[in-house]
Amino acid sequence: MPPRLSDTTPQRLSTLPLRAPVNVTWEITEACNLDCAHCLSAELRAEQRGELDLEQCRVLLDELARMQVFQVNFGGGEPFLRPDFLDILRYAHRLGITTCVSTNGTVLDDALIDELLAVGADAPAAPVYLQVSLDGAKPETNDAIRGAGTFGRILAGIELLLKIVPADNILFGSEMVGAVRSIDPETGQYFDDTKRYIDQIRFVSDADKRKIFEGNARKVYSRLKAKLPASK
Ligand code: SF4
Repeated sequence: MPPRLSDTTPQRLSTLPLRAPVNVTWEITEACNLDCAHCLSAELRAEQRGELDLEQCRVLLDELARMQVFQVNFGGGEPFLRPDFLDILRYAHRLGITTCVSTNGTVLDDALIDELLAVGADAPAAPVYLQVSLDGAKPETNDAIRGAGTFGRILAGIELLLKIVPADNILFGSEMVGAVRSIDPETGQYFDDTKRYIDQIRFVSDADKRKIFEGNARKVYSRLKAKLPASK
């Protein structure tokens, strides 16, 4: 029987109520196909410190599930470049762990998205979330950080998700740059306004856009109904 991590942690640490982290962030691989200026794992990659193998990942997930960790956020590196990553993801979901995968969006294709939908369908009580990273709402800002041509490749990944994932399962979110909202003097748009890219996609119907921008959030966060005016 493989060793459990708790064999080396203080007694009962993981068995007391409310002692487990709600969320664990796990850099599952150091591999990446991009070379972003702000990359936190570039140093790991350069030093090739190594990764847990599949069996070790399963042992760790068993332990996290036993501790009742609610969600594991997988990042990296680019998680989907790890050949056994879908096995790891599937294993987490079968244990009832909700996951979120932080991807740079450039490696998404139809087959991969179908696999992700299958993982979600296999364990519907623990949804798969995807977070796609984009730095800025125009190619100039994103590509200066993530590399030439990446803005278009990332948007192509997002469009593919919009084509394949049912609109009922998509929530739109955009993170504010810095502490205040401000307008880009070159475009007249807010720096964090990525909504306009979804707005201009023709294959998403207006009804589905309403779900993505607002309707689904109202369903998921039911207390919003009391705080926000009714939608038009
Ligand atoms: S996509 Fe993420 S992991 Fe890859 S280089 Fe950029 S910041 Fe680093």
